[in-house]
Amino acid sequence: MWKNYLIWLVRNEMIGSYCFTFLSDDTSVYAARDPRGFRPLVLGKKTDGGTNIVASESSALSAVGADLIRDVTPGELIKFSKNGVESEMFSEEKQKAHCSFEFTYFAHPSSKMEGSNIYISRKKIGQFLAKKYPIKDADLVIPVPDSARPAALGYAQELGISFDEGLLKDRYSKKGPLRSFIEPHQSDRIEINRWIIPIKEIIEGKHVIVVDDSLVRGTSSKAIVKALRKAGARKISMVITYPPIKFPCYAGIDFPSQEELATYVDDKNYSDDEIVEKIRHDVGVDFLGYNDPENLAHAVGIPVDSMCFTCVSGNYDMLGIKPLFKSRQEMKGE
Ligand code: SF4
Repeated sequence: MWKNYLIWLVRNEMIGSYCFTFLSDDTSVYAARDPRGFRPLVLGKKTDGGTNIVASESSALSAVGADLIRDVTPGELIKFSKNGVESEMFSEEKQKAHCSFEFTYFAHPSSKMEGSNIYISRKKIGQFLAKKYPIKDADLVIPVPDSARPAALGYAQELGISFDEGLLKDRYSKKGPLRSFIEPHQSDRIEINRWIIPIKEIIEGKHVIVVDDSLVRGTSSKAIVKALRKAGARKISMVITYPPIKFPCYAGIDFPSQEELATYVDDKNYSDDEIVEKIRHDVGVDFLGYNDPENLAHAVGIPVDSMCFTCVSGNYDMLGIKPLFKSRQEMKGE
């Protein structure tokens, strides 16, 4: 009964990005992934005892000593019961829309998604970015900790430039381990950036290439560049592994309004190059280079038209909605 109800529900009442698990009163557990596979969902098994597990990422399976069996297929409903595991496709949708942001920022580096390991994908993204922006006169490549580290390493290796840790998180502070753009309040994001500390002895007098995984609002980037200048950086180039984010995400990542994005300009006549130049100036770097969707998808090994880049393109067809953009205050009541 529950299975039929859930299939009716996902076919008739649900659109967009979702993964869910459902515990029914007949002690079965169900798991489903949306037909386009925006978010990851994986199936695993405990090595001892054979318990079946579903998780949002394969890193969660490793944490409990389970093995990855496979990705849950987009449009699949899985039932776990005393009779074992049953699978049923509730959609035959061919178009996929895997969130590209997972590959540069959100997913854990040890995870495997759609056949690609995230750490290796990020390193390749860095290599591909080095081909796009071969800044050969730099002394040093440094990552913004932590998620940009593999990309920075790939970038440095591709160009044969030294890689080093010029910025470190203060692991003793309460906010050090957090990631700044996830924090909903500007004051909290600034607070986190105070705990990213430059190493003066590494930075001083150098032309550094800072590799970051995204530039969402620009808050972190500005604080980091200020700290690097104070530590004596001679020249700062910044390359971003994700393309310019210009539109809100309504598929599960928290940048809900356009005005809060670094790319936002009132004047619609600004060209893409002028927007990048404005951000470069605001952030305070000597050079700013963004990745592009084709380059990113090529590095990850997934066709660009099978990935979601809605926050870059503003084309919400993948989600099946035509949004009316609202302010953060209207969205969240803050
Ligand atoms: S809009 Fe951007 S962040 Fe949201 S799902 Fe698509 S690619 Fe990911």
